[in-house]
Amino acid sequence: MHAYYADHFVLPLPSGHRFPMAKYGRLRERLARELPEVDLHEALPASDGELALVHAPAYIAAVADGSLSPAMQREIGFPWSPAMAERARRSVGATLQAARRVMGQGGGLAANLAGGTHHAYADKGGGFCVFNDFAVAARLMQAEHARRHRQPLRVAIVDLDVHQGNGTARLFAADPSVFTLSLHGAKNFPFRKEPSDLDVELPDGCGDDDYLHALDLALDELARRFEPGLVLYLAGADPHEGDRLGRLKLSFDGLEARDRRVMDWAWSRRLPLVFAMGGGYGHDLEATVQVQINTYRTALAFERRWLARPPALAAGTPSGTHWHNPAP
Ligand SMILES: [Zn+2]
Repeated sequence: MHAYYADHFVLPLPSGHRFPMAKYGRLRERLARELPEVDLHEALPASDGELALVHAPAYIAAVADGSLSPAMQREIGFPWSPAMAERARRSVGATLQAARRVMGQGGGLAANLAGGTHHAYADKGGGFCVFNDFAVAARLMQAEHARRHRQPLRVAIVDLDVHQGNGTARLFAADPSVFTLSLHGAKNFPFRKEPSDLDVELPDGCGDDDYLHALDLALDELARRFEPGLVLYLAGADPHEGDRLGRLKLSFDGLEARDRRVMDWAWSRRLPLVFAMGGGYGHDLEATVQVQINTYRTALAFERRWLARPPALAAGTPSGTHWHNPAP
């Protein structure tokens, strides 16, 4: 299974900043040591043209040249620096490469070690998110799929970060080709939520059983209302009971069951799935990374299933030509 990282583009943060930047490097270290079947690649930066599928050119330019206003930087939560701009681009690039990988090989799973920056809108960032990687990936895969197969591609975004995917919801509000599902804490950030295609609000202190029941219902409803060709899964670690910001009480086992449900939903429909890590702010950083490691372990089990039983090539598809190659 292929996964893409950009954690070596270190964003300089003032001391005492509450964002746990170290978790990304730590995740990569542990993946390399504990799960060598995850094939790690440095992410390429997303281009201006790719970002412009979603973001306003003036915003892309302001991030690139450092002319973001202080208010906009405060809303993002990171001070601007060249490294901040580069990291934001690479974080989108990681999701794009993962998406091209699974679309190119016709199924299976791939991942971004960061990403899931769902609070970013077309013309502004927020909540530690600069650009919206899932939105750019959905738009780009739709464009590439239409070009290659002369058919539209529908994308399901399953956002299980504890915070609502407000930017994503807004970006696709009027677009029936992308379904946005968000399960999140009712009382958590963002305090002004945007309507997704399906929102499920959870009370503070929500535990495994209630969460998994809500997720089952949501995935059933998604299946009734939408037939995707690609699933983008935001596997946030912040619903964990040890999270500083999450306000929910999911255990390690509960989060593993959550991941299995989403991956099984995609697998049983033979859909390619891309996942990204999103939030995670454990009192103990190692607990956050453990939730993420567990997500990769579950994903590897599904990737093995897929490799054992890849889907037959669709009739009329030129045999094998794009099987192992990412799109040009
Ligand atoms: Zn979050």
